[in-house]
Amino acid sequence: MPEAHQSKQNEPFQTGLVTGDFTAGYTSCMPTNAPTTAQSDAAAPDTTILDPHQIHSQAAALAAHLQRAGVAFLPQTDPATADEMAAWFLPAEDPQPASQADVPQVASPQAGTPHDGQSQAASQQSPVTGKNAQTPAPASNPAAPASPAAPASPAARPRRSDPVPAFTSIEGPYPGVLLPIADRQSRLDELAADVAACTECKILSDCRTQTVFGEGSVAPRFVFFGEGPGADEDRSGRPFVGKAGQLLTKMIQACKFRREDAYILNTVKCRPPGNRNPDVEEIANCRTYYEQQLTILRPEYIVCLGAISAQELMKTKLSVGRLRGKIHQYMESKVLVTYHPAYLLRNPAAKKAAWDDLQLMMRDAGLL
Ligand code: SF4
Repeated sequence: MPEAHQSKQNEPFQTGLVTGDFTAGYTSCMPTNAPTTAQSDAAAPDTTILDPHQIHSQAAALAAHLQRAGVAFLPQTDPATADEMAAWFLPAEDPQPASQADVPQVASPQAGTPHDGQSQAASQQSPVTGKNAQTPAPASNPAAPASPAAPASPAARPRRSDPVPAFTSIEGPYPGVLLPIADRQSRLDELAADVAACTECKILSDCRTQTVFGEGSVAPRFVFFGEGPGADEDRSGRPFVGKAGQLLTKMIQACKFRREDAYILNTVKCRPPGNRNPDVEEIANCRTYYEQQLTILRPEYIVCLGAISAQELMKTKLSVGRLRGKIHQYMESKVLVTYHPAYLLRNPAAKKAAWDDLQLMMRDAGLL
């Protein structure tokens, strides 16, 4: 292999060809004329963005061209209706002045959480220092869906491809006192017993073989936060032990620490039947358990694996593609969002992006 290709940052990808580490699928699927980084990123499904404004203007231009060419069966355009329909696809214009448009935004904690009533003032997270800078109140929740509104000028409209600033989902310290390490395992054991007896979700508790609480160091610097147990996890009672779990272990090892040095948990503790996504009610039912786990562990970093855990922890509907690549904040923990290992198994081209995310965390943590 040419020496120029053996940079330190690409090392796991190169060794992946030989050792089968988590980047192996990415490198092995690349053609000889491998794409550039930008091209690779563009191949990841979540980064394929349709621009509604561009689609609308191109469709209008095509319709006008067909009418000029004499196509008679097209309905005659109704300008008022066309404008109304166009508004359905356009995001609402940000009412805040342009100077506040880039201010990180705070997603509202969901009703019923123990965090209701906490300060929701916005703060900007430095990817390097992790320190919060005081900022004005947020313009709006980045997760808030666009509502029908009058079309704004193209220059002022946010686009789906616009970067999302890092933001804080819940501010402030974890509640309660930091437990001595010796007490954390016993507290987690008590909580695991509560989870094992939980029947809050009738379907999940009826279908499960056993609950999957979580495992790892009780004083972790890094926590990996997944979606829910699969079939292998349901059988073993341990998180991430199937093929996706093996890939997660390789991802952790690529970060220069051991799986047992981290803590691994899921958003829901019971396997959804047929490996479907947990529904909103099931996630809400199980919220108290992962919140208590995180409060006991108080990790420096939480790595959200996939959309379910990222959207739940960050209180947003933004996709992984828009949340990744920056360091967000949940209470005292820095939050990194990346693709779920199961997704990476199905889409090896996205491993490059996942490795970029982990490298961002490693740099921030002083491991690179
Ligand atoms: S998913 Fe969570 S809340 Fe639902 S039954 Fe299992 S342990 Fe209880």
